[in-house]
Amino acid sequence: MSEKVYLNGRIVAAGDARLSVANPAFLHGVGLFETLRAYGGQPFLLRSHIERMRASAAKLRLQLGAALDAIPDAVTAVLAANELSEARIRFTVTPPDVDTPEGPPTVLVTARPTTGYPPELYEKGMSVCICDDYRQSSHDPLAGHKTTSYFPRLAATRVAAERHCGEALWFTPDNRLAEGSISNVFLVKGGELITPPVDTPVLPGITRALVLELAREAGLTIREQACTIHALLDADEVFLTNAMMEVMPVTRIERHAIGDEKVGPITRRLREAYAARVAAGTAGDN
Ligand code: PLP
Repeated sequence: MSEKVYLNGRIVAAGDARLSVANPAFLHGVGLFETLRAYGGQPFLLRSHIERMRASAAKLRLQLGAALDAIPDAVTAVLAANELSEARIRFTVTPPDVDTPEGPPTVLVTARPTTGYPPELYEKGMSVCICDDYRQSSHDPLAGHKTTSYFPRLAATRVAAERHCGEALWFTPDNRLAEGSISNVFLVKGGELITPPVDTPVLPGITRALVLELAREAGLTIREQACTIHALLDADEVFLTNAMMEVMPVTRIERHAIGDEKVGPITRRLREAYAARVAAGTAGDN
């Protein structure tokens, strides 16, 4: 079956979908996107992803009008049109075209089949590297927003793959740990859970927020605090979160092994709690 997408109110064959040459994301990288999972045909934490986009649009002064109100029905329609139940959903919204500033925003929703990352990564843990090329600065007004200007993040991910790593960890100009290219990062030290605060800056991950909630429910001590490279290398456990990875253990940072290079107990526990939340109410926040 050929892929179907939702574009501006209609389901069309992916090959027939057309964007304007005046689209601001194409011309200038002006737009926002979200990526999330569907489990058993239900988008997970969709409402939270929409609200994050709404908050970014307000902060960055992007005129999206009521376009985001169409997303839930559009997601349902795309999943149905592609007959998908386990899927990677992406929605991309751009402001009106540059030659028709009073016109409507562009809304594109896609869904592709996925069963997630390879199971052996969760058993053995991922290797990650340090991102040398980019720094994440609080002086960058786009930091902490999921904009369509993701070239630096794609480039860092490509470098990581060349080094046989699954992610690259970004630091701030003053050497504080920020996040992965496409994920948030957590450390475990002495039984406590530590993650860089949102104003580091990092993207306020939807998975990060759920994992913090699950950690609180599990009675763990949580510290949202600045981390140095030393704290990272000295951690007992490290894991990453995003909507596709869920809770991804990290057992190596380049040549350095984390702890005993095995998936740690707190990572395992939070991963199980996440899976239980998915199984319990697949919609999560709807
Ligand atoms: N940080 C960055 C830079 C990201 O691009 C992502 C997701 O793509 C995340 C963190 C994790 O966000 P979420 O948990 O909402 O998927």
